[in-house]
Amino acid sequence: MNDHMNGETNGDVNNVNGVTDDISHVLYDTKEFQPYDPTQEIIFPPELKLHPEWQTQNLVFRGPRVSYLRPSSLSELLCLKAEHPGARIVVGNTEVGIEVKFKNQTYPVLINPTNVAELTKVALTKGGVAFGASVTLSAVEETLRRQVNALPEYRTRIFSAILEMLRWFGGKQIRNAAAIGGNIMTSSPISDLNPLLAAAGARLTVRSAENGEREILMDQHFFTGYRRNSVRPEEVLVTVLIPFSQKSEYFLGFKQSRRREDDIAIVNAGLRVSSCGRHDRGGGGRWRSEDGPTTNLEGRCWDSSLLETGTSRLLQKLPLAPSAPGGMVEYRRTLALSFFFKFYLSVRGRLSEQFPSLVAALTEEEKEATKEHRHVTPKSTQLFQTVSYLIWGVGPLGQSPQDPIGRPLTHASALQQATGEALYVDDLPRYQNELYGALVLSSRAHARILSIDASHARGMEGVERVFFAEDLEAERNKTGCILTDEEIFVSDTVTCVGQVVGLVVAKDQATAQRAAKLDAIREKSWWGPWTIDQGDVEQGLKSSPHVLEGEMHVGGQEHFYLETNAHLAVPRGEDGGMDVFSSTQNPTLTQQLVARALGVACNRVTCRVKRMGGGFGGKETRNNSVTLPICVAASVLNRPVRIMLDRDEDMQITGTRHPFLGRWKVGVTKDGFFTALDMEFYANAGCSANQSLDVVQKAMLSMDNVYRCKNRRVTGYACRTHLPSNTAFRGFGGPQGMLFTEDMVARAADFLGMDHDEIRRKNMIDSGDVTHFDQPLDRCTIRRCWDDVIAQSTYHARREAVERFNK
Ligand SMILES: Cc1cc2nc3c(=O)[nH]c(=O)nc-3n(C[C@H](O)[C@H](O)[C@H](O)COP(=O)(O)OP(=O)(O)OC[C@H]3O[C@@H](n4cnc5c(N)ncnc54)[C@H](O)[C@@H]3O)c2cc1C
Repeated sequence: MNDHMNGETNGDVNNVNGVTDDISHVLYDTKEFQPYDPTQEIIFPPELKLHPEWQTQNLVFRGPRVSYLRPSSLSELLCLKAEHPGARIVVGNTEVGIEVKFKNQTYPVLINPTNVAELTKVALTKGGVAFGASVTLSAVEETLRRQVNALPEYRTRIFSAILEMLRWFGGKQIRNAAAIGGNIMTSSPISDLNPLLAAAGARLTVRSAENGEREILMDQHFFTGYRRNSVRPEEVLVTVLIPFSQKSEYFLGFKQSRRREDDIAIVNAGLRVSSCGRHDRGGGGRWRSEDGPTTNLEGRCWDSSLLETGTSRLLQKLPLAPSAPGGMVEYRRTLALSFFFKFYLSVRGRLSEQFPSLVAALTEEEKEATKEHRHVTPKSTQLFQTVSYLIWGVGPLGQSPQDPIGRPLTHASALQQATGEALYVDDLPRYQNELYGALVLSSRAHARILSIDASHARGMEGVERVFFAEDLEAERNKTGCILTDEEIFVSDTVTCVGQVVGLVVAKDQATAQRAAKLDAIREKSWWGPWTIDQGDVEQGLKSSPHVLEGEMHVGGQEHFYLETNAHLAVPRGEDGGMDVFSSTQNPTLTQQLVARALGVACNRVTCRVKRMGGGFGGKETRNNSVTLPICVAASVLNRPVRIMLDRDEDMQITGTRHPFLGRWKVGVTKDGFFTALDMEFYANAGCSANQSLDVVQKAMLSMDNVYRCKNRRVTGYACRTHLPSNTAFRGFGGPQGMLFTEDMVARAADFLGMDHDEIRRKNMIDSGDVTHFDQPLDRCTIRRCWDDVIAQSTYHARREAVERFNK
């Protein structure tokens, strides 16, 4: 390996099995890089810094729809709140912003209290730490951590639990902006802090101009309903006191969500227990528990009988109706029990350390159950063969420098993207007379459009024009990538939420998006089936010693490309020509469809793709739902029109990978050889054909995966549904088809009591086999590849370790 090279890898190359002299992991030579110069770091632009004097002054911004007020004293804040009882206080805007953007809420008066000293200070008191309601969660985190480091452990158990919870609270950016008061006042049932604050007995100070100050204990009576609490509308939350814990108290918080970080809790809990007796009994004393509104275990010993009672009382007192918001009723009840169990074990562990003669120590298995999750960043290393160069004049000693095979080539834009220098469509400079487009989307899954009232949007200042189907000749309104079964603007019947009904073109993005939120629209079948077969499936199944059946659902995924759909249509000014700057994966199709929509020849349209910003299949065809409307608008207005979708708009409009249902029936011998296989695939195509037909067929072609079976048949359906049209996604149906086969393989192995890998290897294809789509296999290396992967990944050792862990 070359010492001069970087050797940069976040994996451990020395531990990778099978690394030999001709295998390398070195991607580039760091000597080629400019040395790091800290003086070149970007600074906060001085012109954007507020003058210190303005920082402390009252501010008032009055716009046509919203007034934004920033008072600088508590008395001014209370007066403003009395004057505008409906005003919204806003600090981090991470709740209010969501209500305005996604729930179409309007708040004519917003009051920012971040200049009010009482709401921004942190004070250490006898009973705990008092945080001003506008203190950000990052500042809360910092203060609590300081206390945890400075005070005896028993005093800060509540703080430690809150710190642990804050690790899973939003992302850093959210915690830097969001305030503790905003979380409490939103009173959302999915709040991560409220269960802990309630279990801790946090005390709130609220004030109003008329009634002065009062204190509220944050207990089970504080929350009065969904997103409601006992703070009165005229009151302002001033401080939140988080108490110190006592020596005899234990406190823990738990959160379960789909993802570990930055996700909404499915269930969360704050659990506190305090001793109020002597430790003179085998179980470790008498205890009072405050685990929220659910159950009271006062006076019980901390032993297995408490666990029993606590569990059954929790079950009785968690009466989640089957229709409870959020669903997953049984799962949530089970989670609540498992939190209680984890809490019980954790406390028992602590007690056994304190009173070893009275409380039995936790077993290793029990200790494992109490461990906090710590995320370990996965490491990986890319290995490749070193390829020598051809030395001209000396002879063919190696590979031509032009031959990329075997060489690790970095992505052409990798450096620009890593440094932020890469330019995307929306980075293109604005044209002088450019307009901005925003799509008018359907809000129903299946509905006739009875009428559209766009008078409000048309009357808005800054709106140039609003386009609907009537603005385009019916024939030119038709579009679609394989079948012409879609419309640029839906004319009569919408068939999914998020279908494009119209386009507002305005002077800027904000105006266009506001006008496009029109609330004035009043508003069977499948393709296929196709079958591929080989051999005689019926006979094969009939003669098989065992026949097994099963089915499996596979969900779709959002493409989540880095750059959302961004397009700029620039009319050429002659012959109806158009230059389209698009982040499409398929410039040719875009060119063809734009030409059709404009009623011009293809050579009048140029589609330029500067950079895609990710696509993964999502911009192969679905970009056209966004590109075509702006091209129509640009052509009619003869002015450039730009659009870049917000993430939520993009997700709503563009569809995902196809969710599939796969059914299989397999005949297998007692030794694990497949004799016959019959499969059916049903793909959720969404509301139009798009690429679904090809995706289904690709799934069918991939159903053999790497296995042979003499008799097999697969039938595929692309089912039409009232959802956005699903589309290409890496693998294009292949992963779904292979997954159903792997499901079948694993279940057949389980049935026969065989090792999964043994049955896999037994049935693997080899040279001389013929696939179910009649391709003879030649030089088939799958077995060698499989054996190499097993050896290099130390698969068997890892599997044994997993099995040991799961025992
Ligand atoms: C991407 C993202 C991730 C998130 N992740 C999480 C998470 O993991 N866990 C979680 O619990 N929440 C999460 N949230 C929700 C949100 O961040 C928190 O609720 C946050 O604490 C709200 O604080 P804020 O300052 O932004 O509130 P704002 O939006 O400014 O205000 C929220 C509400 O509180 C009221 N309010 C604020 N201060 C006062 C006061 N002094 N007196 C009276 N009323 C007041 C406001 O009027 C408003 O109704 C997330 C939000 C986003 C956008």
